[in-house]
Amino acid sequence: MSRAFNFSPGPATLPEPVLRQAQAEMLEWRNARASVVELSHRGPEFLQVARQAEADLRMLLSIPDDYAVLFLQGGATAQQALIALNFAAPGQQADYVLTGHWGLTALKQAAPYVDARIAADGETGGYRDIPPRAGWRLSDDAAYVHYTANETIHGVEFREVPEVGNVPLFADFSSSIAAEPLDVSKFGLIYAGAQKNLGPVGIAVVIVRRDLLERAGQPRAPIFDYRAHLAGESMLNTPPTWNWYLLGLTVKWMLDEGGVAEFARRNARKAALLYQAIDGSGGFYRNEVAPAARSRMNVPFFLHDPALDAAFLGEAAEAGLISLKGHRVLGGMRASIYNAMPEAGVQALAAFMRDFQQRHG
Ligand code: PMP
Repeated sequence: MSRAFNFSPGPATLPEPVLRQAQAEMLEWRNARASVVELSHRGPEFLQVARQAEADLRMLLSIPDDYAVLFLQGGATAQQALIALNFAAPGQQADYVLTGHWGLTALKQAAPYVDARIAADGETGGYRDIPPRAGWRLSDDAAYVHYTANETIHGVEFREVPEVGNVPLFADFSSSIAAEPLDVSKFGLIYAGAQKNLGPVGIAVVIVRRDLLERAGQPRAPIFDYRAHLAGESMLNTPPTWNWYLLGLTVKWMLDEGGVAEFARRNARKAALLYQAIDGSGGFYRNEVAPAARSRMNVPFFLHDPALDAAFLGEAAEAGLISLKGHRVLGGMRASIYNAMPEAGVQALAAFMRDFQQRHG
């Protein structure tokens, strides 16, 4: 059997050219006479890989010079705790805007270290929309305002960067980084686990305005200290070299394909096609998110009769479309259509959905 179109939410599909290059370089990386996984992180070969990955990411995302970039372990979840330790004074308030599961996770990870307040909560509406900005309860002395740019499970995405005044804006971009052009200068900090749009799991990216690193934060071990990570070029301890290398290949691929502006166009077409397949099904399929807040990366949907779910998943897999089962929090289906998902994959899914409806409708 051949490779399927993989709609997994993360770890997620990677660009085929990236996998092929990794395969070709697996035994020997360039002239190193060893695999990149086998080389010291402090040797000249891996340093070149690491620095190139940072340079390429800076170019891809147009990251200004007054922002530092860190490559860290512990996933996005660890960053959710570390931002509180690094940027909030003990007992200081931090404001959280909740638009789904991951915003709540962020709040829970920070709660032992800050006075984490819910500034707005979409839960009353079942996380199907973004609470209107006018109703957010923000405090001028908060350490930061945190929101989740794209909620991977609930399929709710901010289309605009929210305006929050002088308090630094911190954002979880795990599932939508590099999906479209972004004005990094509007943020105090952006973090993302890599395993959706940037490559493999096992490495997370933190983009932080350098002046914020002057904040004292709270007592913490050096390994939890962003300033120490920056001084050590994200190599305070042995970094996940293989993951970093794959991230570098993925970022390079995005640049070669035309960068974030090109991916924004592709992603808009892919999302439009899929939502149209859902909305045009006369209720056979449904997505409950307010149209203006619908995610272009993760499209949750339900069949009108859950008794058909197993048949849908089984027949989809036979048609070469895998990992469509929804998250256990929501049930139903979810198609994750990150940058590496080709338009042909979404076209195949939309065609399969129409075909399935004809046979089971
Ligand atoms: N935030 C978001 C938006 C996510 O989608 C995820 C993972 N699905 C996380 C945080 C947690 O990431 P990790 O598993 O890398 O800690």
